[in-house]
Amino acid sequence: MTSCPYCDLIQNEQFPLLYEDEIAVAFLTPTPHVAGHTIVCTKKHISILEQLPDDIAGHLFDLANRLSSIIHTALNTDGTNILVNNGPTANQDVPHFSINILPRRKNDGYKFDWNKRELNNELMLEIHNRIKTQLDKNIKNRKEEKEENIIIANQNKDQDKKQNKDDEENYLLKQLQRVP
Ligand SMILES: [Zn+2]
Repeated sequence: MTSCPYCDLIQNEQFPLLYEDEIAVAFLTPTPHVAGHTIVCTKKHISILEQLPDDIAGHLFDLANRLSSIIHTALNTDGTNILVNNGPTANQDVPHFSINILPRRKNDGYKFDWNKRELNNELMLEIHNRIKTQLDKNIKNRKEEKEENIIIANQNKDQDKKQNKDDEENYLLKQLQRVP
């Protein structure tokens, strides 16, 4: 037993998984909000979305999208909510990052609070600017990081080239020494 209910389920050989690969699993949650409520998550314990490496995030969302369409056909539903509750304030009730697939039917009675709010223009503009400033910083940092990685990769390539050249020269020298 771990302190994580999803890790417990994944490690429990009796528990029926819908899907499993090296990185991800999918299963029906034992505490569903609607019939067919499916969880897609990593096999390894990862708490929140921000901790997911890009390629694994891509893999999980691809899988969720595929499953959503499969569930739609299998259960003859009318639509799906694909939902990430990221953090306890956002209703994340299990400390293991997951994508929830909620198959929906007309008149299924499920109450999903998706009520619009009116915000004044001043506040909208302030929020826009704060997010945009942070995003621009992030884009700049990522660009610099990428450029640094390219420089390091090129340095490694140059070193490899030099090593190959040295090896070649050593080989030639050795061959020359063998010439009678
Ligand atoms: Zn876990």
